[in-house]
Amino acid sequence: MSVRHESAYKVVARNPIVEMDGDEMTRVIWAMVKQQLIEPFVELKLEPYDLHLPNRDRTDDAVTTQAAEAIKRHQVGVKCATITPDAGRVKEYNLKKAWPSPNGTIRAILDGTVFRKPIIVRNVPPMVRSWQKPIVIGRHAYGDVYRDVEMKIPGPGRVEMTYRPASGAAPQTIVVHDFKGPGVIKGEHNTETSIRSFARACIHYALSEKLDLWFAAKDTISKTYHAAFKDIFREEVDLRRADFEKAGVTYQYMLIDDAVARVMRHAGGFLWACRNYDGDLFSDMLASGFGSLGLMTSVLVSPEGQFEYEAAHGTVQRHYYQHQKGEPTSTNSTATIFAWTGALAKRGELDGTPELVAFAHALEQSVLETIEGGIVTKDLAAIAVPPIAKHVSTEDFINAIAERLTAKVGPRLALL
Ligand code: NAP
Ligand code: MG
Repeated sequence: MSVRHESAYKVVARNPIVEMDGDEMTRVIWAMVKQQLIEPFVELKLEPYDLHLPNRDRTDDAVTTQAAEAIKRHQVGVKCATITPDAGRVKEYNLKKAWPSPNGTIRAILDGTVFRKPIIVRNVPPMVRSWQKPIVIGRHAYGDVYRDVEMKIPGPGRVEMTYRPASGAAPQTIVVHDFKGPGVIKGEHNTETSIRSFARACIHYALSEKLDLWFAAKDTISKTYHAAFKDIFREEVDLRRADFEKAGVTYQYMLIDDAVARVMRHAGGFLWACRNYDGDLFSDMLASGFGSLGLMTSVLVSPEGQFEYEAAHGTVQRHYYQHQKGEPTSTNSTATIFAWTGALAKRGELDGTPELVAFAHALEQSVLETIEGGIVTKDLAAIAVPPIAKHVSTEDFINAIAERLTAKVGPRLALL
């Protein structure tokens, strides 16, 4: 039932965008978004990689690695949500094995950091009154408690930690604790290379988006471990001092408890670089505080400045099963559309084609105006203020955006 909106002129993208298709409901949405909101308006050079689970299985997951390598070459990618298979999925799709998470594979190849950014619409107010602009979270995705070793201590005894240099130099040992009774211990680590890459990716994002950068840890207590993060961040920021000044962007280090307290009364509009565990917690806190998973975007940034855009949510499995049964669905495509606009705007910025950036902006505006005009999917109808009694279907939401977009840019596209 979708109406194809043709445009007289098309914006031309000069260089390729790596397109990664995915699974389930988001795969259904992906096709609609491309067909209704992108292809009629933009002449793209897409380099497609199909990360649909059966295709990952068929290629022994080589397609995922190829996609990541392509992002390295072309600098910009856009990805649909994908299934990370577990035992249930291995059976459902009759897979050779439970392939690893594509996001994990791509992140490892690009050595990237994931930034999550909420989309703010006027009629879906954040839970926290002071939040007016997005608070972006960058989460370090290596080490600490996620790569720790742990041990149960059954009774009295001494626990020590030893470093044996590969050079053959004398080992160093410190006492962790002299146990008088049972207890537990853990050993955590991180590497300078990983912390530095994380700091660089955060700096890259802050400068590219012109956002102030916050980094917080607990170096008053952890005088070596947390202090190492603080020092490396400082060094990397100092190397880019001139760029910070040029962009009018500041860097602040603070204690993590201070940062948490400040976030709750801040207007937003900054990048919060988080250590791995902090990022795990606070990205979920911000996602629910800002409204809906359907309004959360995500971008993977490599330290070299390669960008991969996607929605933060998964493949929305429950809605897909409804869709398969022929039942109507009301899935929010906003974050998927913003993944596309993020990639288009970045492509335009890197290629020096402002008309592509302007088109991306016009598409984003069309989405925001559609929602603010009261045409919303079920997830937003429930939390909108004032409440919206009637929600629209997955298709009708995209159609309404296409209509607005056509009115906005259609015949005038060449003049943007
Ligand atoms: P999910 O796809 O994020 O969906 C969880 C629930 O959140 C949905 O059932 C729905 O709630 C709501 N929701 C999420 N996105 C929505 C949207 N755009 N519009 C409306 N409602 C939305 O998580 P999941 O169902 O736990 O995971 C499904 C698959 O996604 C898994 O196989 C997982 O491996 C994969 N996954 C992939 C990525 C990625 O590729 N980046 C990330 C996370 C998960 P209601 O059912 O209440 O409507
Ligand atoms: Mg979490």
